[in-house]
Order: sequence, then C-alpha cells, then structure tokens
Amino acid sequence: MQAATRKTGFVAHELYMWHNTGNYAGPMPYGNPVQPDTHAENPETKRRFRNLLEVAGLTPQLHAIAPREATEEEILRFHTREHLEKVRALSADVGGDAGPFTPLGRGSYEIAMLSAGGVLAALEALMRGEIDNAYALVRPPGHHALADMGMGFCLFGNAAIAGFHAFEQFGLERVAFVDWDVHHGNGTQSAFYDDPRALTISVHQDNCFPPDSGYRHENGTGAGTGFNINVPLPPGSGVGAYEEAWDRVVIPALDRFKPQLIVVPSGFDAGAYDPLGRMQMHSDGYRSLTRKLLDAANRHCDGRLLMCHEGGYNTWTVPFFGLAVMEELSGAVTGTVDPFLEMHAALGGQDLQPHQAEAIALAEVLLETLPCQN
Ligand SMILES: [Zn+2]
Repeated sequence: MQAATRKTGFVAHELYMWHNTGNYAGPMPYGNPVQPDTHAENPETKRRFRNLLEVAGLTPQLHAIAPREATEEEILRFHTREHLEKVRALSADVGGDAGPFTPLGRGSYEIAMLSAGGVLAALEALMRGEIDNAYALVRPPGHHALADMGMGFCLFGNAAIAGFHAFEQFGLERVAFVDWDVHHGNGTQSAFYDDPRALTISVHQDNCFPPDSGYRHENGTGAGTGFNINVPLPPGSGVGAYEEAWDRVVIPALDRFKPQLIVVPSGFDAGAYDPLGRMQMHSDGYRSLTRKLLDAANRHCDGRLLMCHEGGYNTWTVPFFGLAVMEELSGAVTGTVDPFLEMHAALGGQDLQPHQAEAIALAEVLLETLPCQN
C-alpha cells in the first residue's frame, strides 16, 4: 500500500441504497411476458464499489464527507417548482414515475435531496480548500434530469445543481463538465445551453440514450454558443477511442476554456460487458482518463476535480473502475489487481479504429467555435 498523496473527499451514505426503483426487469416494468427481475438502476454496483474501496484498504486514505440534504432553493436553481412538488408528492404516497424511465419509491424524495446535497457537500469542502478533489458516490443519479421532469433513472440534476452552486455560492465564473457516462448528459447540457459560464462536454455512445440526443450540432445557443460539445462515439469504442477523444477534444477544450472547477458526471456504463452500453472500456482506461483530467485541473484550477456518480450496471466490474479512479484521484496505490482487466484488455478493437478516429475528428472541429479564455 502506497499512501495517498492528495486529499480526496468521498461522499457515501447507506440511505442512497434505499432509493427503491421498484419491480422491473432491467428498465422494463413487470407484466406478461416479462419475468420479474431487478431494476437496472439498483444499489448493487454502488454498494460493491464502496465495499471494494474498504477491502482494498483505500477507505482510510480518503476524507469522508457527510452528505447533507439539498435545500429547495438549491434544487430550484435548476428545476421547476412543479417538478420538485411532483417528486415530493409521489414519494410521500406510494411512489410512481417522475418522468420517462424514472421510477421512484416511497421516501425517494428525501434520498434524492441527500444525493444532490451530497455533491454540494463535496463541492463546499473542495471550495473551502479542505480537500484537493472529491468523488460523490451518490444515488439516485442526475445527468438525464431536465428542469421540469426526471428522465433515465435521474430525479434531480446533481451535477447541474452543483454548477449553479459554484456560480451563486462561490462566485465562480467558469465551470467545465466532462460527462463520461456512456449515455448523453442531456440534462446537464440543457441546464447551461445558453450559459457561457459552463462548458458542457459529453462523450457518449452515439444515439444510445436518450434517443435522438447528443449530436455534434447541439453546440449551445445565444451567449452559450460554442460552449456545449458532444462527442458521440461509435458503439464498440474502447480505450483507444476514449484516449483519442480526450487528447483531441476534451483536454484541448479545457485548455481553451480554463475552468475554475471541473465536474465529472461519472458513469461506468461504458465498460465492456455493461448491460446498458456497447462500449469496451476497462479499469486502466478510466485510470488514464482520470490522470488526463487531473493534469488539466492542475493546470487550470489547483486540481479542483469533482466527480459525481451516474450510471454503471455491471456488478462485477464497476467496483474496479471505481477503485482505479479513486487511486488516481488520491495518489494511493493499493496493490489490488483488477482480475477482469486481462479479459477486458484482450478484447478485439481496443485500439483506435479508423471510423472512430473519423468521428472524433468531426468533433474536434467544434473547438473552433469555443472562445479561448485569456
Ligand atoms: Zn448511463
């Protein structure tokens, strides 16, 4: 075990696991002919992530940050009063749907407030200089939620709400979001679509979820034109394509924008064998992307990197992706070997393929419309 060299904040809470997504088989409700199973967005991957940190000996190297509930005012910086009240009412009753593919159970409102507030607590510790960077292992996730409705398992837009908090509570002028979840970060995009204070970048599987969303031409509007960058990657992309996307688009965009804070909506569903994605990432890939983001954060904002958990549905591998990221954030080396890595890394097509390079080169053109901060 090599000890941590950076102070990495970690937010987790057992209540996050008690958000009840109900009776589903994957994303599908029960009913003939669907045999009952568990909902895709259930606690297991998150629990195992947290547990592996403990088993690997990393937990004592991290700085535990207690989550708090977000206030209504903080939620309403992004969401409509109607949406908040709908979630509250369903949660106080027997649950229901907060939007497409967004089931919630009794008591989920308070847990969603604790999820958004968990990211805010991490942000506050980061801005006060108590920690160097942070990972908020929150649930329910947030990056698909729109102002007036939940979407794709997301009730409130945790990352977007943290962005507004950074602007209004801490007076930041530039916050960058780098969403590596395999699905498009449409909610975060929508929150800041006309806002030049936020650079929103999403690297995702082309046309996966939401349908008809996440295209390159969605580039921002009004004063925000140029400040939204989508990098849709072809299905099958592995570490070669992701590293190319980082080197050619993500990092150069950060270097132009010069953020004062980088927020990463962190979904691990781009992993090989994830049931809800068709990409081929592995733990060393996430390690490499984290290192590149840390380097950019060191160049521009004293290393201020805040990750908040989103998707990731493979129960075996998500914990190892999480451990790799936490080792990179903290600088600790646990010596725990990812037993799936060999299997993942040996998959054909991990190297950058010509059609993937072509898609990334098309996204690279978008850098020209992103104003360069002095
Ligand atoms: Zn996802």
